[in-house]
Amino acid sequence: EEHVGRIVKALSGYYYVLPEEAAVGSTPVQCRARGIFKKRGESPLVGDMVLYERTENGEGTVDRILPRSSELVRPPVANVDLAVLVFSVTEPALNLQLLDKFLVHIEHAGIEAMLCLSKQDLTKEGEETEQARQSMEEVLRIYKPIGYDVISTSSRLGEGTSEMMERLRGHLAVFAGQSGVGKSSLLNALVPGLALETNAISARLGRGKHTTRQVELIHTGGGYVADTPGFSQLDFTELGVEELGNCFPEMRERAPSCKFRGCTHLHEPGCAVLEALEAGEIAPSRHKNYELFMMEMKEKKRRY
Ligand code: GDP
Ligand code: ZN
Repeated sequence: EEHVGRIVKALSGYYYVLPEEAAVGSTPVQCRARGIFKKRGESPLVGDMVLYERTENGEGTVDRILPRSSELVRPPVANVDLAVLVFSVTEPALNLQLLDKFLVHIEHAGIEAMLCLSKQDLTKEGEETEQARQSMEEVLRIYKPIGYDVISTSSRLGEGTSEMMERLRGHLAVFAGQSGVGKSSLLNALVPGLALETNAISARLGRGKHTTRQVELIHTGGGYVADTPGFSQLDFTELGVEELGNCFPEMRERAPSCKFRGCTHLHEPGCAVLEALEAGEIAPSRHKNYELFMMEMKEKKRRY
């Protein structure tokens, strides 16, 4: 009899599959993949929806991989449909250039993005409350109008976590962001019983923060979250220069009104994006970063 399930972990040639309607805390079925996959050069990925069969010894066999909606390379996870970009209001300071770079990659991957402003407690106390408050206002002002959801959280105070849980429902989400912004702390606050190492702890134990780990999906009932941050290294090798504008929603939306087809939105007359920028309808930082990424991409091209 064939069942439908999701691969939540892969280890030493085994795939761990959770039946489709599994309750939180259920034990996954330990499965081998059929030999046919190897012959076809196909390999099941964590996140895959699969058809599997139970075998007599209590284990199972993965028979078929159902079509994927997306495929991430770092971390290697299939079917991710929500990327939560975590940025702290301070410590480390908000970096809009990095934020925009993450967004470009997510837009390009066709995954929905959501912004999480972490360490919200630092807008009220600490040494940088003023800077923290400004960062928070800046993110809300720039990113909400172009359609991104923004949630602010504090793992320290337990704020925003139930809102975040609600938002994750029905998704396979991956958290991304610079080291130190509080991703592990946030996941720990979201999932009871989870005890991911946070920076503070790994520093005390003197362990490297960059040891590569196997990715595993955390089943939260309403959805799944990858326990490993994604998109940690970003470059533009897979992206074409002409695709960049499409990864900025406020430019993508206006491009059809530009006078020239294939407008780069940098210097052309009759450019609807430049007009909107002049009129203060597009955030200067967004356009500046667009220009910067364009330069980076062109430089890379020249090197090859
Ligand atoms: P990661 O590298 O993104 O996984 O970040 P961690 O979760 O390891 O957290 C990095 C540091 O930020 C640790 O020292 C945490 O104690 C601290 N931190 C995490 N969340 C919060 C928060 O909500 N408020 C404050 N003030 N500090 C936090
Ligand atoms: Zn244009």
